[in-house]
Amino acid sequence: MSNRLYSPGGDLHLVNGTLVWYYLICRREAWLMAHNLEPEQENESIEMGRFLHDTAYPKERKEILFGHMKVDVLRREGDKWVIGEVKKSSRFQQSATMQLLFYIRELRKAGIDAEGELQFPEEKRKVSVQLTPRAEEELENVIREIEKIIESKTPPSAEWCRYCQTCAYSDFCWA
Ligand code: SF4
Repeated sequence: MSNRLYSPGGDLHLVNGTLVWYYLICRREAWLMAHNLEPEQENESIEMGRFLHDTAYPKERKEILFGHMKVDVLRREGDKWVIGEVKKSSRFQQSATMQLLFYIRELRKAGIDAEGELQFPEEKRKVSVQLTPRAEEELENVIREIEKIIESKTPPSAEWCRYCQTCAYSDFCWA
């Protein structure tokens, strides 16, 4: 695999659900993604979005487009919408929860009342995700941090973590 990056073009990404997800995995990766810098892909088994999609069910997955969000679960319960994701494991639960909170906040801004639901079928578990005042404060802090990071001209330094070994940027960060 190459240790060079290329830019397919496009403006700096604004904070979105995907960046929230990646920020909680690796701040440097969030910066690289926000700046549209992608690793040159010689190894097809490693791809962008790997963490995100590795946690979902690729075959059974039927994503539902809801506004600009793609979710696995969308249903009406009384006067509320329930949106959510189906995950293989709870390994990235914190990231998935924060991403869902981001979507719920987006919907709330559009006047839609929603709750979140993470489903872990293999663990026979469902987790309800609610945008409580405390969760919203935490999310706001995360969003502010992401904005600060991506506005910087240089990415945060690489810090080895358990995701580095299989990260698409691994050669760029560590070669
Ligand atoms: S290789 Fe490690 S430090 Fe570099 S972007 Fe990936 S997770 Fe972050």
